Amino acid sequence: MALITETYLRARLVSGIPNPFPLSEGDKLTPAAADFLKSRSITTQRMASDPVNLRESAKAGGWTMPVGVSNRHVHLSPEHVEALFGPGYRLTPLRELSQKGQYAAQEIVTLVGPKGILPNVRILGPSREASQVEISRTDGFALGIHPTVRLSGNIEGTPGITLVGQKNAVVLHEGLIIAKNHVHMSPDEANKFQVANGDSMIVQTLGDRPVLFADVTVRVSSKFTLDFHIDTDEANAAHLNTGDVVRVIGKNGEITGSVRG
Ligand SMILES: [Zn+2]
Repeated sequence: MALITETYLRARLVSGIPNPFPLSEGDKLTPAAADFLKSRSITTQRMASDPVNLRESAKAGGWTMPVGVSNRHVHLSPEHVEALFGPGYRLTPLRELSQKGQYAAQEIVTLVGPKGILPNVRILGPSREASQVEISRTDGFALGIHPTVRLSGNIEGTPGITLVGQKNAVVLHEGLIIAKNHVHMSPDEANKFQVANGDSMIVQTLGDRPVLFADVTVRVSSKFTLDFHIDTDEANAAHLNTGDVVRVIGKNGEITGSVRG
């Protein structure tokens, strides 16, 4: 799986380019590469791809992993669930998330910042020890607050935000972050990628706008499923959607794999 560029195709001219040109699962042509083939009347033939198996192929030791795009969301302490929705209130699971036991709740809140509001922000469950609100930098412009990039859970010294629920409002004094991109994986998967919890990975996106994520934090737990988590700004910048696949090309600041693949 790779991004196929015009430069790559030109280099292959010497040995000959097959017609039709085979594209394997996840292979993508840059627009220039597509034009290059077209101008030589070379057609492409896509090999059968089964998106359901992408996660499996990554698990099986390939150097790829699936993408999960996180929209703005809220994690709440049990106290804040009750403060927003009433005494004894429990969140209602709406759908499961990629990580075992995590769910999107039916409940939503409105974020209120000094400059504007963001309504219908999903609460994720189950509740946590400390409330935390994850937004994108773009959301920050709408709200008029600019939090720093933090790993989930590391909220000391971060700005607060006001949440408005069905019953009441809660003023958080800290907990507003732009989530640091990270990858969840099981100990088995960490073994295959040869990384440990806290390491960082270099990730290359495949597609029309290739982007390198140079410092993706590795989070390892037996409860985790392989998934590369980015926010909507990062996804938009790299033209990525949930379920897309990215390539791991290095770790801890060093590129070990080929960018071409
Ligand atoms: Zn995550």
